[in-house]
Amino acid sequence: MATALLVIDMLNDFVSGKMRCEAAAAIIPKIRALADHFRRKGLPVVYICDTHFPGVDRELELWGDHAIAGTWGAEVVEELKPQYGDFVVRKRRYSGFFQTDLDLLLRELGVDRVAITGIDTNICVRHTAADAFFRGYRIAVVRDAVASWDGAEANETGIRYMSEIYGAESPAAEEMIASLEPQTGANP
Ligand code: ZN
Repeated sequence: MATALLVIDMLNDFVSGKMRCEAAAAIIPKIRALADHFRRKGLPVVYICDTHFPGVDRELELWGDHAIAGTWGAEVVEELKPQYGDFVVRKRRYSGFFQTDLDLLLRELGVDRVAITGIDTNICVRHTAADAFFRGYRIAVVRDAVASWDGAEANETGIRYMSEIYGAESPAAEEMIASLEPQTGANP
């Protein structure tokens, strides 16, 4: 079984646009290193992207228009652009699993563990982690590759919640990469 990298909502609107998350830019290099490594290992890289329909999606009543389908704001930031062989799953609510084909995709790819990155730790990351837990996936929230609109402390609290409630590991990006290597020395 395999680990998939999930890159959640690293979209122009959230990184530099109208709903900018100040801490988002700083995690781009970590996510980029992870994505490069996953691709090299032949492991799936799955982008999970807010893609809203204006005047239709009820979530917009709460937050205002963001990540509107067909606009620049809904595109993945230039530095992390999906590459050939990556997967893109569009969502209209917080969870990457809700009314999307993410679960079907992961099962067809033979994935049993998800490495979660992106924003916001306490909104879309958390709800995606919850749904992954409900469906029996093992979860790693990459602690230096997620961020929150509410700052570093809220980010830490969110990671701790997912570890306590969903049994998520919380490796740093480098530890995540190391965990993908075959463990040597344990067996003759
Ligand atoms: Zn949204």
